[in-house]
Amino acid sequence: MSIQLPPETTGYSDCSPPPQTRQMLLLLGFTIGLIAALITSVGLMTDLLVSFVPVSVEQQLGALMAPAFEQMAEPAAVQDQLNQLLDRLETHLPQQNRDYQLLYIPDNTVNALALPGDRIVIYQGLLAEVESENELMMVLGHELGHFAHRDHLRQLGRGILTQLVLTSLFGDTSGLQQAAVSGTAALTDARYSQSQEYQADEFGLAMLQKNYGQVAGATDFFARISRPGASLDFLATHPGSTQRIERLNQQIAAKKYNIGKKLPLPGAIRQLKTSSY
Ligand SMILES: [Zn+2]
Repeated sequence: MSIQLPPETTGYSDCSPPPQTRQMLLLLGFTIGLIAALITSVGLMTDLLVSFVPVSVEQQLGALMAPAFEQMAEPAAVQDQLNQLLDRLETHLPQQNRDYQLLYIPDNTVNALALPGDRIVIYQGLLAEVESENELMMVLGHELGHFAHRDHLRQLGRGILTQLVLTSLFGDTSGLQQAAVSGTAALTDARYSQSQEYQADEFGLAMLQKNYGQVAGATDFFARISRPGASLDFLATHPGSTQRIERLNQQIAAKKYNIGKKLPLPGAIRQLKTSSY
């Protein structure tokens, strides 16, 4: 049984809304606040989930995703030479807890992508575009930048990331196979944000400087693919080439990096440019 008190005994002034209305307003305000917090925290949530995924679980997922690309890969002289270049860059990485490997796919797609679990996929179409070892090293350094910032994990989406966190917490790997299937689709269509691209470029530039002591070739690839009539595969997943060239040039000037001579591409990769595909 409820007791209704007369309004004058409840202590609220005439200016205040009655209790029921006030409760509704509070509830409404709380709901709006909650929605706003959820929207603004989506990015933070992704960052938080990513920070909870250990490298070992990422590698477990990668082991399930890699076969789809390995089937298309061609373990030949080109792939060996690419891995030798990648090994040289790896010696300059701040953390030495990974062993990156390159998968070379003989397909005319002009693209490269970072897979979870230390694999970088590079297509023949991209190799056909590059003109110097330095230019190629910048592309590889850029992909290592995506690993360093764990951008490729963010692209998997919160559903898969949650699965990975659960796997690491409870050791239950039953959901990983499905995560690998969805993850492969998500990464193939991945479109990195401009800030992720800038960060990866900056990382690649630092890799060039560490490896050669100068940064010749840092902007060549982006200039080449932004020319009229260039293939759009790489641009579809790596937007804004013109701004990226400007930004790289600003950083080269600000850091007073030297621009020296470029080295020719290693033999097997150079031969690709003359062979048809
Ligand atoms: Zn990128």
